[in-house]
Amino acid sequence: MKLAVFSTNPYDRDSLTAANAAAGHEIEFLSVRLDHRTAPLARGFDVVCPFVNDRVDSAAISVLKAGGTKLIVLRSAGFNHVDIAAATQAGLTVLRVPAYSPHAIAEHTIALILTLNRKIHKASNRVHELNFSLDGLMGFDLFGKTAGIVGTGKIGIIVARILSGFGCRVLAFDTRPSDECRRMGASYVGLDELLARSDIVTLHCPLTPQTRHLINERTLATMRPGAMLVNTSRGGVVDTRAVIATLKSGHLGSLAIDVYEEEGDLFFRDLSNQVVSDDVFARLLTFPNVLITAHQAFFTREAVRSIAETTIANVSDFAAGSVRDENRVTLKMIAG
Ligand code: NAD
Repeated sequence: MKLAVFSTNPYDRDSLTAANAAAGHEIEFLSVRLDHRTAPLARGFDVVCPFVNDRVDSAAISVLKAGGTKLIVLRSAGFNHVDIAAATQAGLTVLRVPAYSPHAIAEHTIALILTLNRKIHKASNRVHELNFSLDGLMGFDLFGKTAGIVGTGKIGIIVARILSGFGCRVLAFDTRPSDECRRMGASYVGLDELLARSDIVTLHCPLTPQTRHLINERTLATMRPGAMLVNTSRGGVVDTRAVIATLKSGHLGSLAIDVYEEEGDLFFRDLSNQVVSDDVFARLLTFPNVLITAHQAFFTREAVRSIAETTIANVSDFAAGSVRDENRVTLKMIAG
């Protein structure tokens, strides 16, 4: 099949080329993001392959449909960047990579918690400047603290297991509680109770209409004073302006994020010579108790290889008329 890959970085090119060696699909790598303006570039391609910050809205989908696209293969588990209703109506199949390495995201979440708590990023900079003072670097023991996990699917369960290993009490909130998570010692409670009791709150639910701004002015106010909030799920789950207000008031103790609501205009590019026009993001950068990585939780050798292999398998399965149901994104999944 002919496949147009949007938002390509060198690692996408390498991993997809390797995964495609046996399948032999014809791949065009494009560095531009897919949206309604760039969708004409996919004319004549059976398949488009967007990444998480491409905007596959109804306008883009109608251009893709007119250009002959039949299949959208996502190089991600999340599918909030695609208008699934519009794709379904246009008769386009949408396939994703439901699981590549949930360990990659869970382990990055733990890296953020440890780094932010023990201020490793600052400590390392200090030592490189021969400043061996410990002033301002004090953290807290994770042992004995309460960690609240919102969304106990593939990633959340691993985070629960690792934090239990640290000796944390684990609270969980999910619209579909999991026995596996319970067996790990987690107790399911309501969202407000989780927020009120947790020293660390970490988000692992998908971005859906129900979870957009789940963390907002009201829910932030229910959090324990001084608690840490961690988001490696999707930026839109958190109302960033409300978080900034809560950081300014001192109620929220610290924040670690790998995702940001408006990351589409920032992440995955080198903007070091440009002026940041996003004032909300610029404000976040000024807080000493905020740690930000640029959507790299997925970025391990194992995860990138697995994403490429499943993406190519999805294209081959579609060509053979045998799509795996678990990889299909359906309207039912949006309804929650
Ligand atoms: P999953 O589908 O296995 O688990 C998601 C869980 O969230 C499920 O248990 C589901 O029941 C729960 N959930 C859904 N709606 C909810 C709600 N309203 N309230 C509470 N819980 C709710 O998904 P996963 O593989 O664990 O991934 C979770 C999310 O992580 C993805 O949707 C994606 O947005 C994000 N992610 C981020 C990265 C990254 O690089 N930062 C990489 C992969 C995935």
